[in-house]
Amino acid sequence: PPALVRRAEQQDTKAIQALDSAHYLHPFTDHGDLATRGARVITRADNIYIWDSEGAKILDAMSGLWCVNAGYGRKELADAGYQQTMTLPFYNSFFQTTNVPAVQLATKLAQLAPEVRGRKFEHVFFSSSGSESNDTNVRMVRRYWDLLGQPQRKVIISRQNAYHGSTMAGASLGGMSGMHAQGDLPIPDIVHIGQPHFFENAQPGESQADFGLRAARWLEEKILSIGADKVAAFIAEPVQGAGGVIIPPATYWPEIQRIVDKHGILLISDEVICAFGRLGHWFAYEKFGIRPDLVTFAKGVTSGYIPLGGVMVGDRVAKVLIEKGGEFNHGYTYSGHPVACAVALANLELMEREKLVERVRDDTGPYLAERFEELRGHPLVGAAETCGFVAGLVLVKNKAKRQVFDESLAVGMRCRAHCFRNGLIMRAVGDRMIIAPPLVMTREQIDEMMDLIQRCLDATLEELRAEGLL
Ligand code: PMP
Repeated sequence: PPALVRRAEQQDTKAIQALDSAHYLHPFTDHGDLATRGARVITRADNIYIWDSEGAKILDAMSGLWCVNAGYGRKELADAGYQQTMTLPFYNSFFQTTNVPAVQLATKLAQLAPEVRGRKFEHVFFSSSGSESNDTNVRMVRRYWDLLGQPQRKVIISRQNAYHGSTMAGASLGGMSGMHAQGDLPIPDIVHIGQPHFFENAQPGESQADFGLRAARWLEEKILSIGADKVAAFIAEPVQGAGGVIIPPATYWPEIQRIVDKHGILLISDEVICAFGRLGHWFAYEKFGIRPDLVTFAKGVTSGYIPLGGVMVGDRVAKVLIEKGGEFNHGYTYSGHPVACAVALANLELMEREKLVERVRDDTGPYLAERFEELRGHPLVGAAETCGFVAGLVLVKNKAKRQVFDESLAVGMRCRAHCFRNGLIMRAVGDRMIIAPPLVMTREQIDEMMDLIQRCLDATLEELRAEGLL
C-alpha cells in the first residue's frame, strides 16, 4: 500500500477512533452511540473490496454510497485528475469564461442522454452533489414558470419516503419524516403523495398492475386538490433508492407520464442513483419510457472518485431559460469544476470501453436477478427483487401471512451486523436489506456475494430462533 495508507494502518485503530469521536461530526450519525462502539476505519479499496484498519477484507455490495460504479482502484481516473490539476486545477464559469473539461463533459452527457419522443437534452447545469442539483431544480422550475407568466405555479409534488438530498430544498423534496422533523421542513409549497410500494401499500388481492395505476393516480388527486394551475412539477426517483430499493410496478410510470402531460406540469427524474448504468442504461428514464424535463444526476458520473453532480436540462425548459431568461441568478463556485469534469470524462470513457452499462443490462444484471430469485426460498425472505444492479429483500416473520417483525426488534440491523461480521456491506432500511454493487462485479463475484448473503440470512434466522422470536 502507498505511504498514506501505510501511515493510517500503522496507527492504532483505537487512537483513530478516539480522534474521530473527538473531532469529526459524521453525516446521519448518532454520536453518543458511535462513541461507545468506535467507527470502523476504512483504509483502502480495490475492485469490489474495501479493507479496514484491522486488515479485514470486506465485499462492498453498496458501491460506497451507490456511487463507485467503475469499482475501486481505477488508475486512469486518478491520472485524469492529476493531469487536469497540473494543467488547470480551478477556474470558474461565472463571468463569461469556460473551461475545456466542462465543455467536453456537457457535450458527452448530451450525447449519452437519449432523446425520448422528440424531447432532447442538449444542456447541462453542473453542481457538486445530488442535493445541490435538486436545489437547482427548485430554482429552475420556479424560474421557468415565472418566465412563462405563470408565477403562481409554485408547488412541487414529491413522494413520501423519497430521498432527494439533505440541503433545505433537498430534504424538503425528500419524503423522510425523520428529516422533516428536524429543522421545520418541508419549506413552503412542497407536498408529498404516497409511494408505489407494493409490499407495504397494496391491498389484499390487488395485482401489481392495478396497484401501480392506483398509486400513480394519487398524483392526479393531489394535482386536482391543489389546482393544476398552481402545480409546477412532480419529482421522483425512477426506483426509490435510500427509501429501500422500491421498484414500482410496470404500470406506474406510464400513468405518471399521462398525468403530468395532461396537466402540463414538469417532470423531474432524480437519477442520482439510477443513472450511469445502475439500471442497465445510461439514464433510467429510457428504461421506463418516461419523458422528463429535468434529470438530476451525481454519484456514478464520476464513480464517486470526486464530487460532481448536475441537472440535464431538456429542451422544453432550456429554450425558455435561454431565449427569454436573461441572467439566471444561480450557480456554485464549483459548477463545472475542471478537475471533477476531467475525472467524469475519464470515468464515462472507461465505462464505455468496458461496456459496463451493456454488461449490467444483458449479462450480469439478469444473472443477479436469477440468483436473487433463489432467496425467495429462504424462511426469512418475504420478497426479493432486482432492477439492473440494485436489489432488495424483505425480512418477514411469517411468509404465508406476510407478517412483518415488530419494529423494536430491529431485525434489519441484526442482519446488517451479521453482514459486517462476515465481510459483506449490505444496507438495512428497516427490515429491507438492500444492495447496489459496483458495475464491474463479475458472475463469479455475484456468486461469492450471494454465498455471503445466504450465510448472513442463516445467521440472522438462527439468532432469532435462539431468542424465541420466530
Ligand atoms: N437524490 C437521490 C435519489 C439520492 O439517492 C441522493 C443521495 N443518496 C441525493 C439526491 C443526494 O445526493 P448527495 O448526497 O450527493 O447530495
